[in-house]
Amino acid sequence: MPYTVPKLEDFSPAALDQAVQDLLSAVRQEASAVSGENDAREFRDRWMARKNGILTQASGWLKTAPADAKRAVGQRFDEIKTRVEATVEATQQRLQGGSAAAALESERVDVTLPGIRRPLGAEHPVIRTLNETVAVFRAMGYSVAEGPEVETDYYNFEALNFPPNHPARDTQDTLVIADQDNKPLRDRLLLRTHTSPVQIRTMEQIRPPVRIVCPGKVHRRDATDASHSPVFHQIEGLAVDTNITFSDLKGTLDHAMKALFGSSVKTRFFPSFFPFTEPSADVAISCIICGGKGCRTCKQTGWVELMGCGMVDPNVFGFVKDHGYDPARISGFAFGMGVERLAMMKYGIDDIQMLFQGDVRFLEQFA
Ligand SMILES: [Zn+2]
Repeated sequence: MPYTVPKLEDFSPAALDQAVQDLLSAVRQEASAVSGENDAREFRDRWMARKNGILTQASGWLKTAPADAKRAVGQRFDEIKTRVEATVEATQQRLQGGSAAAALESERVDVTLPGIRRPLGAEHPVIRTLNETVAVFRAMGYSVAEGPEVETDYYNFEALNFPPNHPARDTQDTLVIADQDNKPLRDRLLLRTHTSPVQIRTMEQIRPPVRIVCPGKVHRRDATDASHSPVFHQIEGLAVDTNITFSDLKGTLDHAMKALFGSSVKTRFFPSFFPFTEPSADVAISCIICGGKGCRTCKQTGWVELMGCGMVDPNVFGFVKDHGYDPARISGFAFGMGVERLAMMKYGIDDIQMLFQGDVRFLEQFA
């Protein structure tokens, strides 16, 4: 039975005492049963609501008390009021304290657990080699030029002195974009097979002198093996000015190889052929792995071929003659190297596929 305020008829100290004890024990009992916010609100209203709360009802004892008992009843009522208010207050604090404790519990951190390790990222060896190589040429006053990976036949072949049906086109098995047959050959799109188109694009924009390096991704229809990948990176260079000679080319590349591989590296130039340079050369460096004594990497020769280069063919300047490149007045050299090949030499990697498989065990060695 919930507590109800009795009508007092007997105001003797003993009877008054009993009524006060009953009320106070009721408020303690109800307070201990309060377990939620709604409970707490109901509990507070039941006891303290101004209109018909239990305290208000109990204040009725003052009115019905005979004159000689009024003073005693007043004192006991003040006591009841103080105790009930304190109990309601304490109940509310107990609930808030409880929810704070629950919040603390749910947010508890076990500081003895191992932390979350975030592995350090590392520059990919190809990108690192590319950046290092570009930095070597920047230090010699070269700027960086970039161009599209999807090129036209004109920039990738024709303007580089590969005329249509030129046999040199066969050495670069080209990935062409589909459904281009209705366009003239020079406008057909393909994935660039070298970064050389950037040289033409740059000469169309900048009058001589120019000194640029063109880093970027290139594509060829090569079968995958330990030294070939259908996608790889190249850095090409171009220097055009008056009185540029083959010895400038040799000096520039010799310096670059020493800067990349160490000052004891030797360079060697072999005659070669490229449609866009004349004369042309392949450049080999003394084998980094064996120091030139002969090993598996250099096929016992002590030399490793790393680059192609040559003096820019006057026919190539013919395509940009209107932009200030008069082959009678200026000359230049160009070179190109595969970044993967440089990286493999630099880091002693014997399979180009390692560079593209994304195996973290391999890559984290460069962190
Ligand atoms: Zn060797």
